[in-house]
Amino acid sequence: MKIIMLGAPGAGKGTQAQMIADKYGIPHVSTGDIFRANIKEGTALGMEAKEYMDQGLLVPDELTVRILLDRVAREDCGDGYVLDGFPRTIPQANVLDEALEKLGDKIDYAIDVDVPDDNIVRRMSGRRACLACGATFHIENVPPKKEGICDRCGTELVLRDDDREETVQKRLDVYHEQTQPLIEFYRSKGILEVVDGMKPMQEVFADITAILGTAAE
Ligand code: AMP
Repeated sequence: MKIIMLGAPGAGKGTQAQMIADKYGIPHVSTGDIFRANIKEGTALGMEAKEYMDQGLLVPDELTVRILLDRVAREDCGDGYVLDGFPRTIPQANVLDEALEKLGDKIDYAIDVDVPDDNIVRRMSGRRACLACGATFHIENVPPKKEGICDRCGTELVLRDDDREETVQKRLDVYHEQTQPLIEFYRSKGILEVVDGMKPMQEVFADITAILGTAAE
């Protein structure tokens, strides 16, 4: 099963993607996490991506597509995957479609986690991330068991530079301009599902599993 998560930055799609990955036993593939891992390791790719990320801009398609196609070609993606943060532009979606088509394959579901803009900024400034394992928490909605510490690996949590308020506003503008058109793109392909991201996290997940359930079991 191949799933794409859509939604504004901060809509909770990363959290839902991880829950889907855990339940259905497929990898959670986040281009943002791959970039952050590269930044942490100081690779050339990381250095290039950081320049864009710190300004709330998208990393150029060419670079992003290359790392994504590389990742989904690995063996653990053989039974499917859940994409979180990719595609973010129509050209990225087209490249993904073409790559899958060559393999006689396709995306099964595009799930849009819908949250109104005015909620996004508040949500994101409460977000805390683990730069070691990629887990995300929220000081109100998904607090870690021990304040400021990652539940999964025990590393100290941080407010990512790109979750700061001024960057969030820029990211929202970029989202509306470049990423939101993907909702119509996938609707026209007949694979779009919209869930209400304003509901509590577990209810959003229940709505998603109601959509995916029969397909996966
Ligand atoms: P995320 O963790 O998905 O919110 O991504 C963090 C940042 O990484 C974004 O604001 C972009 O700068 C960059 N990024 C992640 N995925 C993509 C993508 N598919 N295309 C372009 N830039 C991306």
